[in-house]
Amino acid sequence: HADAAMYSAKSRGRSGLCFYNRQLNAPAVARLRLEAALRRALERNEIDVHFQPKVDRDGRPRSFEALVRWHNPEFGAISPAEFIPIAEEIGQIEPITEFVLARACRLARAWPGELAVAVNLSPRLFHSGELCRRVERALAASGLAPHRLELELTEGILMEKNMRAVAQLQALKALGVRLAVDDFGTGYSSLAYLRRFPLDILKVDKSFVGNCRPDASDAILVRAISSLGRELGLTVVAEGVETRAQWDFLRQAGCDEFQGYLFARPLPAEQTLAWLEQHRHGVVGAAP
Ligand code: C2E
Ligand code: MG
Ligand code: MG
Ligand code: MG
Repeated sequence: HADAAMYSAKSRGRSGLCFYNRQLNAPAVARLRLEAALRRALERNEIDVHFQPKVDRDGRPRSFEALVRWHNPEFGAISPAEFIPIAEEIGQIEPITEFVLARACRLARAWPGELAVAVNLSPRLFHSGELCRRVERALAASGLAPHRLELELTEGILMEKNMRAVAQLQALKALGVRLAVDDFGTGYSSLAYLRRFPLDILKVDKSFVGNCRPDASDAILVRAISSLGRELGLTVVAEGVETRAQWDFLRQAGCDEFQGYLFARPLPAEQTLAWLEQHRHGVVGAAP
C-alpha cells in the first residue's frame, strides 16, 4: 500500500519530493501502521465485544449494548471513537460490524427472558445495499427473535436526503428489529426525520445528563426530549448516568430506560450472565 503510494508519487515527477516531505513524517507512518494493524485485527483475534446493561425505571435489566473493543500488542487498547472512523475509511467497517452482530445475537440467545441486545451501526454501512441481508443472516444464524435486536443509528443517516436510507431502514424494520437514534440531540437540529422514519427508541446523549439541577438548561432539554418521545410513542433512554442524583432526575423527567457507570461499566461477554443473575431483581440501591 505504502509502496503503491510512493510509486504513484514518483510517477508524478517533481511532486514526488513534496510527497516524501509531507506524507512520510512520523504521524503519517504511525497512521499507516495503525491502518495495517486494523486490517489484520479480526484475523488476529484482537477484536472483542463488551456489553453494557440498560435498566428500566425500577432498575431491572432490559437490554445490553454491544460496544466493540480493539486491543493490539503494539498500540494497546484503542477506543472505538478513534478506530471506527478509520475502519470506515479503509473498508473494515463491514467485517467488524458482522463480527459484532454475530457475537451480540449469539450471546443474547443465552440470556434469560426477553432481554434485548443493541448494536451500533455506522452510517457507512448504508452505502452498500448489503446491510439488511447482513442483519438477517446474523438473526438466522443465532436464532434470536428479531424484536430482541436493537440497531442504534446516528442522526446523520436520518438526515441524508437519499431515499436509499429510507428504504433500507424500512427493510430493517420489516425484519422486526427495533431502531434507535443514538446520541439524540447532538447532531442536526431538524426533527422532521422523527416522523419520516420508523423509529422505536431515542437515546438522549450523555452530554445532556451532566447537570441535572431541575433549573439547568440541560434538564429543560431532557424533559422536552422525553415528552417529545412519549408523545411520539418512542422509548426514551438516557445514557451516561453516573450518579444517583442524575438517575433520580432522569426518572422524574420521564425517561424509560437508563445506562451508565452507575449501573455497570461495559462488561466482557462472559460476565453478563453472572451480572444478570446478581441483578435480576434490580440494581443495588435502585429502589425508588
Ligand atoms: P455510544 O454508542 O454513544 O456508546 C456510549 C459510550 O459511552 C461508550 O463508549 C460507553 O462505554 C460510554 N459510557 C457508558 N456509560 C458511561 C457513563 O456513565 N459515563 C461516561 N462518561 N461514558 C459512558 P465506548 O465504548 O468508548 O464507545 C464510543 C463510541 O464508539 C460509541 O458511542 C459508538 O458510537 C462507537 N461504537 C462502539 N462500538 C461500536 C460498534 O460496534 N460499531 C460502531 N459503528 N460504532 C461503535
Ligand atoms: Mg450506542
Ligand atoms: Mg449513545
Ligand atoms: Mg453517545
